[in-house]
Amino acid sequence: MITFKKPNEIDKMRRAGKLVADAHHAMRDVIKPGVDTMTLDQVAERVLFAASAKASFKGYRVKHIPVPFPGTICVSINDEVVHGIPSSERFLEEGDIVSIDIGAYLDGYHGDAACTYAVGSISEKRKELLAVTQESLYMGIKQAVPGHTIGDVGHAVEEYVLSHACGLVRDYAGHGIGRKLHEAPQVPNYGKPGSGVTIKSSMTFCVEPMVMNGAEDVESTSNGWTVVTRDGSDAAHFEHTLLITEDGAEILTPWE
Ligand code: MG
Repeated sequence: MITFKKPNEIDKMRRAGKLVADAHHAMRDVIKPGVDTMTLDQVAERVLFAASAKASFKGYRVKHIPVPFPGTICVSINDEVVHGIPSSERFLEEGDIVSIDIGAYLDGYHGDAACTYAVGSISEKRKELLAVTQESLYMGIKQAVPGHTIGDVGHAVEEYVLSHACGLVRDYAGHGIGRKLHEAPQVPNYGKPGSGVTIKSSMTFCVEPMVMNGAEDVESTSNGWTVVTRDGSDAAHFEHTLLITEDGAEILTPWE
């Protein structure tokens, strides 16, 4: 069921989204070569706890994975696409790219956003991947206006990514968000123009392209959670939580 948010709910979602953005800003200061990924998790957790929020992902369960997600954030490095698990034994290295996904649950509502960061100085190829993925997010957001459809959003993302000779992750999608982290509708990163659910004012959903440098194929690793590209190529992930207004999409998680 798609939920349309009332003004008081929108206020709460703005606050949850702003908190996610604050946690991303804190990431920028700590992401550097030599830092272990559990440290990133702890920094994000401190930002959330200081606002009396909870981590949306910690303890999250899905049917086919025996253990709940253990981290506050997802930390996915290089060929890891999404759902990387923070670890005190995993260190960032110069030249890595690291995707950080943060969800905050504040006052009954969730915010959710991802960004891929450069660790030190990165190759031109990786810079290009980050630029294409981030821009594909904005191409999708531009289509997220009342009267358009979810298919229009996905189509814009897909067309942009494929025209830049990158691959698209099709097994994972954006989603409605609100009282629950994952609500209807699903927001795939591909689609036919004019297809799917019609977008209306006061809907809230996440757009989150996941893009790789190589072939469009991913697999899960032995921990059950972490998804990697099958050919070992690099992947990037950018996401915003959006509020649909009569004037277009308002970004609720302004991490830029
Ligand atoms: Mg999401």
